[in-house]
This record gives sequence, structure tokens and C-alpha cells, in this order.
Amino acid sequence: MPKYVLQHWHFYQPRRNDKWAKKINEECYSPNSNNGILDHVSFNVGPTLIEWFLKNDKETLERMIKADKGQALAQPYNHRIMPLIRHDEDLKTQIIWGKKHFKTFFGRDPEGMWLPETATSKRVCKELARQGIKYTIGSPWQKKGREDTSKPYKVNLGGGLEIIYFFYNHFSGKIAFNNQTDSGVRLLDNVDVALDQLVSFAKNGETLLLAYDGETFGHHHKLADRWAEYFPKGVKKRKDIKMISISDYLKNFEVNNLADILDNSSWSCLCGGLERWTKGCGCAGGYKKYQEPMLKALEKIEDEIHDIFVNESSPYFKDVWDARNDYIDLKLGNIKEEQFFKEHLKEATSKENEFLLKKILEAEYHVQLSFTSCGWFPSRLGAQAEQNMIDAYSSAKLVEEVVNKNLVSKLISDLDLVEDWIEERGRKKHITGKELLLKHIT
Ligand SMILES: [Zn+2]
Repeated sequence: MPKYVLQHWHFYQPRRNDKWAKKINEECYSPNSNNGILDHVSFNVGPTLIEWFLKNDKETLERMIKADKGQALAQPYNHRIMPLIRHDEDLKTQIIWGKKHFKTFFGRDPEGMWLPETATSKRVCKELARQGIKYTIGSPWQKKGREDTSKPYKVNLGGGLEIIYFFYNHFSGKIAFNNQTDSGVRLLDNVDVALDQLVSFAKNGETLLLAYDGETFGHHHKLADRWAEYFPKGVKKRKDIKMISISDYLKNFEVNNLADILDNSSWSCLCGGLERWTKGCGCAGGYKKYQEPMLKALEKIEDEIHDIFVNESSPYFKDVWDARNDYIDLKLGNIKEEQFFKEHLKEATSKENEFLLKKILEAEYHVQLSFTSCGWFPSRLGAQAEQNMIDAYSSAKLVEEVVNKNLVSKLISDLDLVEDWIEERGRKKHITGKELLLKHIT
């Protein structure tokens, strides 16, 4: 029986300046959408990256979509660290919005979902399963007990729910991070050497998944898009190895082995938890002063916005959370405003009330965006954290236009506690979240 090799490519960019995204596109997205690799691997494209393609390079997006024969996965809408979400309704919404966004572009319901930073918990997986997601991907150390990446596993979630977990193999790291291997050959220079190593790495009959950021190929490693182009051809020449996508694998094989997952674990925080996105950790250069106060400030706004949303809109909407979940269809242009209100209002109301309801829904939208994980990821308070704070501000501002409440000034004073030291012209400079935000609003 041949060894099966599966790959997953995670394509994602947060909202960031166009110059940067353009460079990554030229080096990675565009060539890899053109060289045939996506026909052979599982992949997902984050919604913010899809939005970028729509504005800047529709052809690349079209090629990615065309490559999908069932092997593309969806992603929770705006890359929140899912186990850190406190309210069940937000957990649901992230998955629902991710599925709706996926369907809008790929024209079908997703079978698999890539969890941001592969951050997981049983609670998160239960919600995935409830929403019809069949499989996801994890790092080898996210399996409870002995590491085993030689086959996929079924995870029982209780209440008749289950999800299939593909834990990727450590060989992924050899390709993504270690340029130099034991034999002194760069794995990203020579596919045949990489395949030899891969085969000797795996025992006979194993099913190995390799998972990485899609940006590895061409952006992090220059010209590795050519490597990706040759990979399927290199595999085809061999008898000891076969390449298959996750979705095709699941069509052909039943997964019966059982495993459990480690709650609150991820692929990119190696400290055994999710500290990278709560208070900073060794992976992000140690404890950082900015992360925890920023999380607390934004959680406070989130709670306030939710309370106001429920209070203000429940007299009008049949179900406030259903309305919020479908709001993404309005944003995506899948549904007309008139139809949206017709479906969700208990009874017709004035245009003025509809206008105010839309404002609070938009506040709910921005408060979701304010938890994009990239804001906490780097060791320094930077542009992505700034973007999250702007979203929290937009949310607070919108709500202030609807109810007589003072949210903006409270947010600003909380963000004064978000501190860091940055390097500016060779000097250390003290900055606060408040200063970063005020640049945008005064
Ligand atoms: Zn860590």
C-alpha cells in the first residue's frame, strides 16, 4: 500500500497596506494559482485576502476558485482565536460568516474548516460539527497523549457529534522553516531529495499530511513556487508514494481511529496554551505589556455592544442573532436590504428604524473584526493592533449614534493602559494604544 501524502496550504493576509499584499501576490499567490499545485492540495483562502483579490487581482482569485474540486476549506470569518471567544453566539457567528463567505465565492458549502492558528477546543469543534463541518487540521502536539500523525482520527465530541482531525506531520516544519536538512540539501531546492527524505521519514502505509502557510512557497522562500509546480510531477514518477487531497482521501477511506484533542492549544503558540493572544509568551518574545490590557479593553466594548444590540433590536427582530448571522449576506451583496428586513423584522417598521438597526448591526460587525488574532501576534504593539483598535472605535462610535451612551471616551481611556516601547530612529519610544488610535480620529 502506498504512503499517502496530503498537503494543506493556508493562504491568509489580514487587512494591511496594499504594497505589501501586492508583493506577496506577485511572489506567491499569482504564480501558485497558475502552476497547477492547487489541483493537488487542500487549501483555504482567508476572507480578508479574498476581499483584497476582488479589488486588486480577480484573475488569481478566479484561478484559485476554479482549482477547487472539493479540496478547498473555509475559515472562521475574521481569524479570531476561536477558543478565546467568550460568547457562544460569537463562536457561531464566526463559523456561519466563514461558511457564507466561502459559499459566496466557491459556490458550495465547505466540508472542512481551517481554524485560525489551528487554535482549538472541544467547545469550538462541537460548534463546527453542529454546523456540518466534517474535518479540520491540527498540529501534532494538539493530539492528546502520544503524538501520531500517521493517520487521521475521529474525535468524539459527545451528543452524537464528531469531527475528523488531520494532525500534520513534523516534516512540514522541515519544509517551511529549516532550509538546511541533515544531508545539507535545501528541501526547497530539490523535490526529489525532499520526497526521498519524506519516504524514509514515514513508515510503510502511513498517511502523512504536510501543512503550512501558503506564503511559504514563493514569498518566505523565493522561487519555491517552482518547487510546488514540480512536486506533483515528482510524486507521479514514484511507486512508493501517492498524492491526494484531504477531501479525496475522505471519499476513499473511512476514518475509524479515535483520538482526543488538547483544549486551548494551537500550532503557533508552543507554550502549551493560547498566551500568545492573551498576555504574550516566549513565542512572541516574552510577556508584553500591550496584549492583556488590549484584550480587556476590547472585551469590555464587545460586552457593551452586545447588550445594546440585544436591547435595542429585540423589539424589532424575530431573532437578533439570526439577523446578525445573515447580516453578512447583506454586506456580501447576496441579499437586498428590503429582503433582509422582510425576513428578519417581526413586523414592518419605518425606514428610520431600519437605518438605526443597520447601524447597530454594523457595530456588531466591527466588534468582531476588532478581535482579529493578528493584533496580538507580534512581539510589539503595531499596525495590526492599531487596526483592531480602530474597529473597536468604529463600533463604539456607531452605537453612540443610536443610543445615549458614552462608549468612545471609555474605550480611549482604557487604551491608555495599552503600552509598549518601540524603536524609532534608533531610539526607544514609549507609545500607547490611545495615541495610536487618536492619530486616526482627530
Ligand atoms: Zn507561546
